Amino acid sequence: MSVAWLGATRPRSLAPVLARLSPPTENLSWYTRRFSGSQRRPLSSRPLLTLAIESSCDDTCVTLLEKDHGAGRGAARLLFDKKITSDNRQFRGVRPITAVASHTQHLAGMVREAMRALPDAGVMETRDEATSGDVVWVDGRPRRKPDFVTVTRGPGMMSNLSTGLNTAKGLAVAWGVPLLAVHHMQAHALTPRLVSALEAGKRKRAQKEGQTQIGEQDKPPSRDQTPEQVLTPAFPFLSLLVSGGHSLLVLSRSLTNHSILAEAQNIAIGDMLDKCARDIIPASELAASNGVMYAAHLERFAFPNGPSDYAYTPPPTRAEEIKIYDPGFGWKLTPPLSESVDMSFEFAGLNGQVIKVMLENPDMELAERRLIAQHTMRLAFEHLASRLLLALSKSGVAYEGKGKGEDSTLLRDVRTLVVAGGVASNRYLMHILRGILDVRGYSHIELVCPPLPLCTDNGAMIAWTGMEMYEAGWRSELDVLAIKKWPLDPNSEDGGILGVPGWKNVEETKS
Ligand code: AMP
Ligand code: ZN
Repeated sequence: MSVAWLGATRPRSLAPVLARLSPPTENLSWYTRRFSGSQRRPLSSRPLLTLAIESSCDDTCVTLLEKDHGAGRGAARLLFDKKITSDNRQFRGVRPITAVASHTQHLAGMVREAMRALPDAGVMETRDEATSGDVVWVDGRPRRKPDFVTVTRGPGMMSNLSTGLNTAKGLAVAWGVPLLAVHHMQAHALTPRLVSALEAGKRKRAQKEGQTQIGEQDKPPSRDQTPEQVLTPAFPFLSLLVSGGHSLLVLSRSLTNHSILAEAQNIAIGDMLDKCARDIIPASELAASNGVMYAAHLERFAFPNGPSDYAYTPPPTRAEEIKIYDPGFGWKLTPPLSESVDMSFEFAGLNGQVIKVMLENPDMELAERRLIAQHTMRLAFEHLASRLLLALSKSGVAYEGKGKGEDSTLLRDVRTLVVAGGVASNRYLMHILRGILDVRGYSHIELVCPPLPLCTDNGAMIAWTGMEMYEAGWRSELDVLAIKKWPLDPNSEDGGILGVPGWKNVEETKS
């Protein structure tokens, strides 16, 4: 049995504590033993450590992330990162009840595994240290207790979210540490900042081991720099969050302020591509998919040799961009919202067109199937790009509303477009976006895409969001509930990330 102190306060006398400890009282000398591994460091210089849980859909994710604060506060390191995806293939899509069963089956075991990866609590020479509230016992060894627990609160499927949330609450109470119940889409938007912090962490470790010289970017930040100035991309930046449940163009002004410039009117782009893929890819080949991310399979099917198959010419004008695609096989595809400049995405129409073509041509040849796969993706991705261009050219209707002037000014300062969410792992999407930005006069905008495992749902992005929120003073109350629909935009009716009940800010309380 392992023991963690209940509550944050350290017990005054060792006796009652020893009675509860493992290893039991016959081994009273544990607190003078030297444990291998890291030396204990004063609290102030130690990295922050969080255990994070993500369970909003079909992935059960548990992550341990540590991040420097104080000097060098941009550097982070993953100590544990595991994901188990429930098998929904027989339902040809995510079935909530199957996903919940998988969360329930795996989450506790994954937390136990993560606890074994907690940093060694190091040298414990005094009674004070031995009884310190920042130690948790795992398999009879003292380990560093996480400083807080992070979990996805929403948006997502209620029962799925609640499985993770309840486990996180239990851990926070047992360890006597704060709970951070965070927004899943905020986490996708912040992922590139996690990537830069992980890279800084890698460089820092390499320097320590004498493998590299200190570069300009590795100099510790000066004291008056805020974490926001140290981390990249700096605010403001634009994000395309494209996943199985979302298609959003977001202007991120700060940690908690993410304005939605365009969102899907109906189905999300990932969902649409998954549905098209099920009809385009021959059934025999589809059966070999090792999951329900059929859109990933569609990319491989459309371009079997990868980027060398692309042959893509970016449309130099809006008129070229909205041309109907007619390959001469008796079917056509019309680009979404070609008649309007509404700041929204519409994918159900293109989905319907593709499904109709496939229904009417059940014996379609492989080469023709490849063609429709390529052009379905092209039209969907150019539609994303069209709203991005409208935003950048400030001609979209989004600017007729609140904050018009401010958004226009901010957009001129934007130097980075982040593409995140599961669909961001599509290399053809990145190729199209780069091509269109270049040909339409936005070559100064850098495209940033997190590495594949951080593009789809993952625990690391949740842990990172917890880190940034924690450092900004935010904590969650223990009575918070999961939220199925949780708008990201602070101008939405619900007030965005901070508009929901359950947040408190310890920095504001202090001042
Ligand atoms: P998420 O909801 O962020 O976990 O992302 C999952 C969605 O991303 C699903 O709809 C996947 O099919 C989609 N997806 C994953 N890989 C790709 C890819 N290579 N191309 C397009 N969509 C993808
Ligand atoms: Zn997601």
